[in-house]
Amino acid sequence: MFKKVLIANRGEIACRVIRTARRMGIATVAVFSDADRRALHVEMADEAVHIGPSPVGESYLRDDRIIAAAINSRADAVHPGYGFLSENPDFVDQVTAAGLVFVGPSAASIRAMGLKDAAKRLMERAGVPVVPGYHGEAQELVLLAGKAREIGYPVLIKARAGGGGKGMRKVELADDFAEALSAARREAKAAFGDDRVLVEKYVDRPRHIEVQVFGDNLGNAVHLFERDCSAQRRHQKVIEEAPAPGMTVEMRTAMTEAAVKATKAIGYSGAGTIEFIADASEGPRPDRFWFMEMNTRLQVEHPVTEMVTGVDLVEWQLRVAAGEKLPKMQDEITLTGHAFEARIYAEDATRGFLPATGTLHHLKFPESGPTLRVETGVRAGDAISPFYDPMIAKLVVHGPDRKAALDALGLALETTEIAGSVTNIAFLAALARDQDFAAGDVDTGLIGRRQEQLAAAPSPSSKAVTTAILAASGIGAEPAGDDPWSSLSGYAHFHPVERRTSVRTGDSEIVAMVSARPDGRHTVRLDGAPNGHVVSPDETGRFALWPGHVTVFSEGAAFDFAVPDPFAKAAEAELSIGSMRAPMPGLVKIVRAAKGEAVVKGQPLLILEAMKMEHTIAAPHDGVVAEIVAEGAQITEGTVLVTFDESAG
Ligand code: ADP
Ligand code: ADP
Ligand code: MG
Repeated sequence: MFKKVLIANRGEIACRVIRTARRMGIATVAVFSDADRRALHVEMADEAVHIGPSPVGESYLRDDRIIAAAINSRADAVHPGYGFLSENPDFVDQVTAAGLVFVGPSAASIRAMGLKDAAKRLMERAGVPVVPGYHGEAQELVLLAGKAREIGYPVLIKARAGGGGKGMRKVELADDFAEALSAARREAKAAFGDDRVLVEKYVDRPRHIEVQVFGDNLGNAVHLFERDCSAQRRHQKVIEEAPAPGMTVEMRTAMTEAAVKATKAIGYSGAGTIEFIADASEGPRPDRFWFMEMNTRLQVEHPVTEMVTGVDLVEWQLRVAAGEKLPKMQDEITLTGHAFEARIYAEDATRGFLPATGTLHHLKFPESGPTLRVETGVRAGDAISPFYDPMIAKLVVHGPDRKAALDALGLALETTEIAGSVTNIAFLAALARDQDFAAGDVDTGLIGRRQEQLAAAPSPSSKAVTTAILAASGIGAEPAGDDPWSSLSGYAHFHPVERRTSVRTGDSEIVAMVSARPDGRHTVRLDGAPNGHVVSPDETGRFALWPGHVTVFSEGAAFDFAVPDPFAKAAEAELSIGSMRAPMPGLVKIVRAAKGEAVVKGQPLLILEAMKMEHTIAAPHDGVVAEIVAEGAQITEGTVLVTFDESAG
């Protein structure tokens, strides 16, 4: 077995590979760009090598630097993860030429399957059913349009070098063919540097069902059952599952046999996925599925297969790459229960799935265990940068049957808390609750048909608003505290009267008066309302405070409220007075200036902890400090924090 492996990737998949390598006693080397200097995969690995600036073209795609890093760190193998260089045969050649082992298939296998048209020709010869269409060499418009007519509309124009759902155009009418072809070519040229296309019959009620395959260097090949990835948005997978709902023995036998045949046809070694498209208009039928493409790598959704088979696919990859025989033969591989994976992305479903960036100020996942895995490459405080895929995490669940697994997925999504960036969690939770999805009645058009309901922005309930108000005024359920009353004592002590609090959501400002009651509960009275609403602390919802915001979590949705910064306002208001007062109660954590010290405008004077956040109090102008509070002091609202010696100014 290898002694040390370099992982030529980042994010969750790099972390995932490191975990298995560590368990197997293999040392790990991470590579990282500028933006990833403090990334989780760097922290987790035994060693880490900087490979360049943040853009992928200058770091994670720099084969030369990655190979140099592997040689210098004396690694004996390179694991490519998925994406980046994982399906680049020239990279494999270079890795091999450097005397290292590539943890994946041979360059020849990748070349054979790299282009969709050539792969389909190859599979046709091997006797695997392929999607009807034209996958020849000719590319003239007249010829392609003629083929499209022969195939029959609707057709799908596909970039032969495509991946990740890019470079594809569905065409319904012959009149639109020429324009769709130019668009697909432009997109393909830009994304893959190759504008050649194939034309396929657009399959009716398409279901994406793929088979996990595995080969070794001794000529063995097995399958590890299928995954259904029909829940797609713009040809990209959203929620994946194993096994495929409604799968019959006949259909599974036909599909897995075809997949193993394809694997053997190219003498494939390592983990691979044979993607099929099935026509589900009359339910699963063994004569209605066709080969689409092969992904010659570990797939993003591989954990669902691991959940139902109990196999660690990364371990198998490492063993097979080291020359070992497949750890299990076909009759030893069994399928138990049902698994789902949901991909959590930093994207705004309510605004056309616009990718987002931001700092993940608050990050809380359900607890991992044998039936729940959280695959992530980030931790609280990390940023989602614009340089890479905005994936935050994958939630993977297992249950004895599909219903139990889907319930577990819904629960896992609802208990996940992310604040600081928008996410698609509410969308995923809505999809998990969708009736057709729950019934297993899936096809790739499902999300498109439900787009409006699934992507609708839920509005916060009155309980969510109350929670935001209480949190913004410095009270609410303490997430970790044993004693629900402890967080309130300070508040009640300092604020026996009504206190004005406001939060903003969207364009509207919500103003409320909050007062503590002798019984420990609070009255929240919305501005203008005659009566308040009495809440006890255990009635408030889950929330997270982060600079300038409070995010309330409820039923899978995360409602973000902006909290006007009272300190900023206070500093402004106090400018002319020559002193600064605390706008709310808190603790003086650190004092950075001393009595008599000359300070300049903007210089940090002290750090206050209030509302579970730290606030830096900076000098509002140049001056000399006359008085300043003591470190460790508990202060009430209105306490003078600093005074300036105006005469010295
Ligand atoms: P498919 O290629 O069939 O869509 P997957 O769903 O497994 O298969 O992966 C989607 C594609 O998105 C991958 O091929 C990969 O190129 C890209 N991708 C997704 N996440 C990342 C990532 N973190 N880093 C690099 N590439 C990624
Ligand atoms: P990529 O390399 O981008 O993953 P694929 O060929 O795997 O490209 O296709 C991606 C998705 O597009 C499929 O999962 C499926 O939803 C849809 N698709 C592909 N081919 C067809 C087809 N012939 N008919 C209907 N849908 C298709
Ligand atoms: Mg695909």
